[in-house]
Parts: sequence; C-alpha cells; structure tokens
Amino acid sequence: MSPGTPAASALELSAAAARARHHLEDCLLCPFRCGAVRSTGQGVCRVSSVSYIAREMLHLGEETPLRPAHAIFFSGCTATCRFCVAASFAFRPTYGVPSTPAQLAQRIRLRQEQGARSICFIGGDPVPHIPFILETLAVLGPDRRVPVVFNSNFYMSPQALELLAPAVDIYLPDLKFGPGSGLESCGERLGGMPNYWAVVTGCIQEVWARGARVMVRHLLMPGHWSCCTEPVLHWLAERPGLEVSLLDQYVPPVRAQGRLAGFLAPEEGARARALARRLRLSLVG
Ligand code: SF4
Ligand SMILES: [Zn+2]
Repeated sequence: MSPGTPAASALELSAAAARARHHLEDCLLCPFRCGAVRSTGQGVCRVSSVSYIAREMLHLGEETPLRPAHAIFFSGCTATCRFCVAASFAFRPTYGVPSTPAQLAQRIRLRQEQGARSICFIGGDPVPHIPFILETLAVLGPDRRVPVVFNSNFYMSPQALELLAPAVDIYLPDLKFGPGSGLESCGERLGGMPNYWAVVTGCIQEVWARGARVMVRHLLMPGHWSCCTEPVLHWLAERPGLEVSLLDQYVPPVRAQGRLAGFLAPEEGARARALARRLRLSLVG
C-alpha cells in the first residue's frame, strides 16, 4: 500500500458504509441536497439506490503514478457539462450494468491480480455512488492491496467528504472552471453547478489541509484563459504540495457553440504550461 494510505480498520469502513446508506433515503451528498427523492431516482443526478457501472477496465490513460489503473466508470453525474465526452453514460444513470458491492469487489480482486496499481472510482461522477463504494471497500477488506483513488468533479457536501476520509488514499479532483458566481459564471453556465468555485475549491482545500495526496486536474478549454485557466493555476500555486495535471485533449462536441466549438490552440496549451512552470506547480503527466 502506498504511503499515506488511510489506516482504516474494517470496522471504520463498515461504520462509514452504514452512515453512507442513509443518503440513499435522504441524499445530502452534494450541494443539490435532493433529500428523499433520491430513493426514487428523481434527484438532480437521477441516480437511484442502484449503482450502474458503464464500464470497468485496466486503464493506461490515467496519470503516470496511478497506471495501470483499475478504472471503474459509474453512470450518472451531478454536473451537466455542455462538452461532456462521457455523455452517453454520464447523463444516463441506468446505462451499463447494475452491480452489487460483492460483484465489484470480486472484479477488483481480479484486476489487482492482472496488475492494477490503483483502484480509480470515476464517472460520470462517483459522488452519488459513495454508499456503494464504501460498501464495496468494506466487502473487499484486507484483499485491497493498492491505493483507492477518487476521481470526481468534487462538487460535494461536507458530509460526503467526511464519509470518504477513512477510505480514500488519493483524491483526483477536476477543477475545470474559474471563480465567479451566478448564472454567467462558467461553472454554472457550462457545468450546471451553482456556486461552483466556492464549493469545489472548498472541498479541495479541505482534503489538502488534511494532508491527503491530491492531484488536481484542470482541463484546458479554448477561449477560457482569463475566466478559468489563469485564476485556477494561481489558486493552485498558493497550496504547496498539490500535484497538478493539465489536460489538453479538449474535444468540441458536435453541437457546441461559440468558443467551445473549436479545438484548443497549441499556443493556449503552451501558455498554460509556461504559467504553471513560472508558478512552480508540481506537474504530473
Ligand atoms: S448526489 Fe444526486 S441525489 Fe444526491 S444530492 Fe446530489 S444530485 Fe441530489
Ligand atoms: Zn471559463
């Protein structure tokens, strides 16, 4: 197990899983705070009490320290990013195969035997699936041999953060959008997440302050230098120890309009990397 792995006992994990189960009846896992409608799958994310897995695989596309990762893609998401490349399952919470914790635990054992160096919970977004994830890790118990990675939009509540603390070794938040609030902010206008900057930076700040290992991903979007990339990189630079992954593979969706209809210009990527170097960010590839 990697250094910094939470020394959660089976008992602690089971207790966290039991607390998490309450959110299947009264969900407060993210700022939408849908409550009881979660149980019927009518919350904002439309994820019910059943977790569907769109796909799972040994994945070589994650950051170098994590790969090959056992990537587990849950269906459903709390965001509605207009340029989502995973829309086929992010916006369809019943896409794929309904799973049980015992089934997923068995698959994790297999992927570890095949050489997985990390277990990456991804989506869509994994936040609505926290009860399922904790239950799976409790079932897995001492069979877990590699770090647990939580790769999320990080649009979550303090309750969700508290549940994850004993279970997650490496946090992999996306910090896509810059500061601002209200309907015209990029986080709300493009991602469908009200109060995006305050919520997501607050969650990153919390896990960073705990001393957890945190790798922040920032997707470089065409035309979003001064509203998103520049302030994001400056914010990250104020928190030493954060690792940063700059993603320059933006793909414009077919029906995109305006700035998001184009590809990232090579000079936009170069400009971001130059600023990251000047700010002495710890870049991971
Ligand atoms: S995770 Fe889903 S059901 Fe729960 S509060 Fe967020 S949007 Fe609502
Ligand atoms: Zn922007």
